[in-house]
Amino acid sequence: MDVAVVGGGVTGCSCALTLAEHGARVRLLEAREIAAGASGRNGGFALRGGAMPYDRARQTLGADRARRLWRLSETALDRLEQLAGDACRRVGSLRLANSGVEAEALGRELDALRADGFAVEPVDPLPPELARLFRAAILHPGDAALQPARWVRRLAARAAATGVEVVEGRALRAGDLDRVEADHVVVAVDGLSSELLPELAGLVTPQRGQMLVTAPLRERVFERPHYARDGYDYWQQLPDGRLVVGGKRDLSFATEATADEETTELIQSELEALVVELLGELPAITHRWAGVWGETPDRLPLVGRLPTRENVWIAGGYSGHGNVLGLACGELLARAILGEPPPELELFDPARLVGD
Ligand SMILES: Cc1cc2nc3c(=O)[nH]c(=O)nc-3n(C[C@H](O)[C@H](O)[C@H](O)COP(=O)(O)OP(=O)(O)OC[C@H]3O[C@@H](n4cnc5c(N)ncnc54)[C@H](O)[C@@H]3O)c2cc1C
Repeated sequence: MDVAVVGGGVTGCSCALTLAEHGARVRLLEAREIAAGASGRNGGFALRGGAMPYDRARQTLGADRARRLWRLSETALDRLEQLAGDACRRVGSLRLANSGVEAEALGRELDALRADGFAVEPVDPLPPELARLFRAAILHPGDAALQPARWVRRLAARAAATGVEVVEGRALRAGDLDRVEADHVVVAVDGLSSELLPELAGLVTPQRGQMLVTAPLRERVFERPHYARDGYDYWQQLPDGRLVVGGKRDLSFATEATADEETTELIQSELEALVVELLGELPAITHRWAGVWGETPDRLPLVGRLPTRENVWIAGGYSGHGNVLGLACGELLARAILGEPPPELELFDPARLVGD
C-alpha cells in the first residue's frame, strides 16, 4: 500500500510512523521543514483530554465518550514520554483560577475527574508566587512539558528510520490532491486544512497564537506548565531558566483569526504585561513568534476518511490542544487506513461536520 502524508507536524509524523511500522510505503510531504508549523511553535503543554475541561466535555459529549477521550489521551501521553526522551518532562500541569467564578469552575472539573477515577489534586495552600495572583489551582499530575520542535524532529527521525521517505520543501496546492500518486492521501496540516480542502472552510478555521520567551531568570519560579483564564494565558519555565509565555488572543479575536504567522504589537505588549504580573519585572525578551492552529465548531478534531473525496483522509482541527491528540490521532488514522479502524475514531468522525 502506498500512502502520501501531507504535513510534517506531530500528526503527519505519527501517522507516517505507524503506517511504516505496519509495512506501508509512505512519503511524507512537508512544505517547509519538519516541525515548521504549530508543532514546532507551540507552548509545549502536553495535556490530557480535549480542548475543554473534563466537566464540560461530559456535558457536551456524554459521560462515556468524555471518559474514552480522556483515557485515549492518557495512553498517548505515556507513549509520548516513551518516544520523546529528554524532550518530554512528566512534571504535571497547573490550571489556575483568578476569580471566585473560575475557582468554582476548577472545583467542578476536579469533582468530575475524581468521580470518574482520573488523577487530579487540589493545590492547597497555593505556593507564595501563585497566592499573590490566584485564588485556586488544580494539579493534573500526569501532564508533561515538551520541547516541542525537538520532540517532533525526533518523531520524524524515527519515522525515517522505519522507512518513511521524508520530503521537505514540497508544498501541495488544493488541486494537487487528486493527482498525488498513492492509494491513500492523508492531510495533516491542522490550521491550513481548508487551504488544501476548500470544503472545510468555516469548519476548520485558522487561529493564531502568539508567544515570547525571556532571557534565563535567576531563580526557578515555575516547576511545571501553568495556565489560567481557561487557557487564554499560559506559561512555563524551561530547564535553562527561560520563561515561555503565550496567549492573550481573547483581547483581539478578530485579528487573531488568521493563518498569518506574524506577531502583533497589541498581543505582544499584553504578553509582556503578563510577564510583569508574574515576575514583578520585565526581563529581556529574546524571541517572539506566532503560529497557527485549526479550530472546529465543537472543539474536537476531524479524524478519518473525508466523505467528500475518494481515499483522502484528514486529521486536524485540534482547537489549540494538539500536542497529545496529534500523536494519538495520527496513530488512529493510520490504523484505519490499514483496515483496522479503532473504535475511538468514532469520537472524531469528520462526517459529523462535513457533508458528502
Ligand atoms: C502558539 C501556539 C501554542 C500552542 N500551544 C499548545 C500547547 O501548549 N499544547 C497543545 O497541546 N497544543 C498547543 N498548540 C496546538 C498544537 O501546536 C497543534 O494542535 C499541533 O501542533 C498540530 O499538529 P499538526 O501536525 O496537526 O499540524 P502542524 O504542526 O501545524 O503541522 C502541519 C505541517 O503541514 C505543513 N503544511 C501546511 N500546508 C501544507 C501544504 N499545502 N503542503 C505541504 N505541507 C503543508 C506545515 O508547514 C506544517 O509543518 C499551540 C499552537 C500554537 C500555534
